[in-house]
Amino acid sequence: MNFYSTNRRCPSVGLKEAVMNGLAPDGGLYMPERIPVIPRAFFNNIYEMSVRDIAFVVADLILGSDIDSAEIRQIVNDTFTFDIPLVKVEDNIYSLELFHGPTLAFKDVGARFLARVISHYSSQSRGRKVRVLVATSGDSGGAVAAGFKDVPGVEVYILYPSGRLSHMQREQLDVPGGTVHAIEVLGTFDDCQRLVKEAFADDDIRRACDITSANSINICRLLPQMFYFFHAYASLMGKGGEAPRDVVVSVPSGNLGNLTAGLLAWRMGLPIKRFVVANNVNDVTVNYLLTGKFLPRRAVKSVACAMDVGNPSNISRILDLFGGDYGPLSHVLTGYSYTDEDILGTMSLVYSADSYMLDPHGATAFAALRDDLKPGETGIFLETAHPSKFARAVHEATGVELKRGAGQDAHHRTVHPRISVSYEALKKILLNETNG
Ligand SMILES: *Cc1c(COP(=O)(O)O)cnc(C)c1O
Repeated sequence: MNFYSTNRRCPSVGLKEAVMNGLAPDGGLYMPERIPVIPRAFFNNIYEMSVRDIAFVVADLILGSDIDSAEIRQIVNDTFTFDIPLVKVEDNIYSLELFHGPTLAFKDVGARFLARVISHYSSQSRGRKVRVLVATSGDSGGAVAAGFKDVPGVEVYILYPSGRLSHMQREQLDVPGGTVHAIEVLGTFDDCQRLVKEAFADDDIRRACDITSANSINICRLLPQMFYFFHAYASLMGKGGEAPRDVVVSVPSGNLGNLTAGLLAWRMGLPIKRFVVANNVNDVTVNYLLTGKFLPRRAVKSVACAMDVGNPSNISRILDLFGGDYGPLSHVLTGYSYTDEDILGTMSLVYSADSYMLDPHGATAFAALRDDLKPGETGIFLETAHPSKFARAVHEATGVELKRGAGQDAHHRTVHPRISVSYEALKKILLNETNG
């Protein structure tokens, strides 16, 4: 399978190059040249299949020409080491719990899969070490650290802004094994991102090692997110025994990775009637759906902070899927946005009415589903993080004190190298490791 850039100002590349480049050289995002359609028969017995089995079938259709099937099977099995249950919350409303991975957020899926694909290619690169760089503002760093910790031949450098991570997010950067290196930057997230970009543009670094990015725009973080849309549908079937009709999926959206993955699954033939986009006050995407105008703006802080995105990069993939045509796009997508007060109110209401604890991101998606669902339809919302990751919001909304997630509290706090916003300082770290 080849992958083209959404900007179409550079040639298509194979999977290896798409993964290793991360971003296409013309600044566009990679998309698969062909979206294979799944044979209808697949849906007849999908309800008997595990997440891993489903993931393998879908992955093999897309990546099978680049990586051999036994290897894909292994990558998929190593990615899904945790359950993704579909839990009934109310009549006709189900929660797809994507937070049972090691860092308690759905980003584990993409990070674990990407880590294994990079490792697959690095084992072919004859002893040349691969270095993965990522700038994080929160959840990505932990997911990448956990995703890469058992992956041989790859050194990971995570740049995070000093003082901006929550206690749990900071702890999640410390993983055993010695191949994951967290670097504290005395600056903002944007500074971290700029340093990473400078490293990519530095010929000295490129000569010394292969470097790539584990950022969320990487196509191999996106593709595995398709699998759980199929799995959600299969789980719904399992509950009723027959093919569900009129399934609507609500996606709590920031950078639009999950939504893009869902739309790709739909294009492959997954019978989803429509997707609901749920935004917090950063409602750039929802505004686009309502008006046809995409107007990026500075993000502001909200209680669903992982969705505080003012210029979602995956919009270019979504527009590309519809040939830039607002008409057909607005037929499958609806959108709603919510204030912090709405989100906390939803958490409170669902906890008292249904005894189900939502996190602020899942709550946003739940609210959108409740506002959008028509009689006779069945709704699924993505519950993207464990509520304990947002214990303060949970407490504010429901009065409940949640213990932090299992396995998250025994860490010994390590000291990370701390650098000012200077590329020379980062370069020194990268090159020392390279020579050593
Ligand atoms: C990253 C994140 C989101 C946003 O997902 P996108 O794919 O970027 O739209 C939603 N919820 C949580 C908990 C996240 O960490």
